[in-house]
Amino acid sequence: MASVPFLAIACSACSEQSFGERPWIVDRFDDIKVIRYEVPGFEALPLEQKELVYYLSEAAKCGRDILFDQNCAMNLPVRRTLETIYAEYKGDRTTDDWKALEKYLKKVWFANGIHHHYSNDKFVPEFTESYFLQLCESIPAEKFGELCGMIGEVCRAIFDPALYPTKLNQRAGDDLLLTSSSNYYRGVTQAEAERFYDAMAAADAGNPEPVSYGLNSQLTKNERGELVERTWRLDGMYGPAIERIVYWLEKAESVAAEPQRSNIAALVNYYRTGDLKEFDRYNIGWVRDTVSHVDFVNGFIEDYGDPLGRKASWEANVNFRDSVACHRTEVISANAQWFEDHSPVDPAFRKPVVKGVSAKVITVAMLGGDCYPATPIGINLPNADWIRKEYGSKSVTIDNITYAYDQAAKGNGFKEEFVLRAEDRDRIERYGKLADDLHTDLHECLGHGSGQLAPGVSAGALRNYSSTLEEARADLFGLYYIGDPKLVELGLVPSFEVAKAGYADYILNGMMTQLARIEPGKDVEEAHMRNRKLIAEWCYEHGKAEKVIEWVEQEGKRYVVVNDFERLRALFGEMLREVQRIKSEGDYEAGKALVERYAVKVDPELHREVLDRYAALHIEPYGGFVNPEYEPVIADGRIVDVKISYPADFAAQMMCYSTDYSFLPNRN
Ligand code: ZN
Repeated sequence: MASVPFLAIACSACSEQSFGERPWIVDRFDDIKVIRYEVPGFEALPLEQKELVYYLSEAAKCGRDILFDQNCAMNLPVRRTLETIYAEYKGDRTTDDWKALEKYLKKVWFANGIHHHYSNDKFVPEFTESYFLQLCESIPAEKFGELCGMIGEVCRAIFDPALYPTKLNQRAGDDLLLTSSSNYYRGVTQAEAERFYDAMAAADAGNPEPVSYGLNSQLTKNERGELVERTWRLDGMYGPAIERIVYWLEKAESVAAEPQRSNIAALVNYYRTGDLKEFDRYNIGWVRDTVSHVDFVNGFIEDYGDPLGRKASWEANVNFRDSVACHRTEVISANAQWFEDHSPVDPAFRKPVVKGVSAKVITVAMLGGDCYPATPIGINLPNADWIRKEYGSKSVTIDNITYAYDQAAKGNGFKEEFVLRAEDRDRIERYGKLADDLHTDLHECLGHGSGQLAPGVSAGALRNYSSTLEEARADLFGLYYIGDPKLVELGLVPSFEVAKAGYADYILNGMMTQLARIEPGKDVEEAHMRNRKLIAEWCYEHGKAEKVIEWVEQEGKRYVVVNDFERLRALFGEMLREVQRIKSEGDYEAGKALVERYAVKVDPELHREVLDRYAALHIEPYGGFVNPEYEPVIADGRIVDVKISYPADFAAQMMCYSTDYSFLPNRN
């Protein structure tokens, strides 16, 4: 599970800020800003850890094409055609048409495909098909290679609005597979896929260690029309990219110490065989390893992109411990059992013994796949419920990323525009980052790991509502406890004021400002956004009689304010109890009713107002990152140091990755 930035103040931008002498924001286009992040402490790492970071970082870059192909089968041909034009076109690069094409390409790079990374809608090009074809014709055919025969298809993928309209359709009642453009299922209906995996689950019923069926494969049909899985492994689908990942992981294995060395070996074996039991073995070893200073994620991890919540997108992240900031999460994880025991959920759905909660604050050194350029700010893994229950989970908060967001957002006018009361603005200014960090810690470290299923309930029972409800459960856990006197007692916050800052911002974002990320007329689709809207709207309605949350209109502008923070905290507790019940009992109908009622539909008038006020501030609602670069210093045939540098050119980094880390054919 991953958290994406929730505090609006952490999602905004200003180009005036400095990165030392250099700006934090290196590029802006459409609704996107690209920021860079520093890796403090890298230089001070011992040589073998620098080397380990370097090898793991190389492995983190090698799966980029996999994600493009997972997001849509036409993504690689589209990207490569555009990149060929971008590299080879000798004509005028100052025209509006050219700028529109360049912007489109940047959007494709940023989203790892032709669909928006957050809304999942297909991009609408602001240049014409004839201009595009004219550019193609001006470039020698041999530059396009095999793509030459695909230009027609590439055109349709870019310009035909009816083709691949959305990457991920979650509209109740539709065939979610046939109407989603992701490449996890090919020519398979939702009913067929559900039957296929239900049969697997039935055959495995009662197994206390159920395999995450379908996690690492595409489901399709063979010539005889039978359903078959194409597994993502060394000699299977995505083999050429996996081969490079394995190459660098083996280098990493050679410099890693135990227990990490054995864990990397298990991961390599999983990539070779595609055996999900091996993946579980790796995850268990990984969860137990709380000693390695350098750590990483590399694999098919999160299932947000699959309408059925089964198939995982490829992602990578390399990081090392931020020892100073770790105090906060160490205190939280040391008290994990207390939090579980005092949670407002039905005692039957609490974990009697919380195992192996380990949480830390990390410094990210490299982002890859589904963590790049847009990245989560917190991660809690592994995702398999039985491993979490038996062995616990590892939870991280990424401090250098939230710091970069925060720096990039200073002075952008957001708070003045949307936060009505000066006292709220002051509190957010003072405690916003702490509230945000603690909420992320609690969400990841305890929230996702909390609770248990009733006997016989399967983890997939909530189907297309599971991601939203799971995020809501974790967020509610964090929101409830951020205001608990226990946090003051533990010395993590000075007072309830921190919770007030977090609550005011959360409600504002959930009911209002996050709508800036949605196009007019569209529903809320993304799981984290749905979750925030669900929580905020539910609490608004359930506290309406007492005006716990209130809409205030002033000078023609609407504001949402929290009047009673203590009561709001109690509402978070009540809602947590209900959401945990839904998850524990696998109550699909109740989950569906909650999400459809509170989390999906947008008030068009409010939406228009938010978009207008947001636009006037010139703040891009989404952010992502350029990676640092690592260069080994070699003497006498061996690495004697690794140098880090911070490139500032988004397009150059993308072109470099597409040249040096692109291993898959156009069609997979
Ligand atoms: Zn989460």
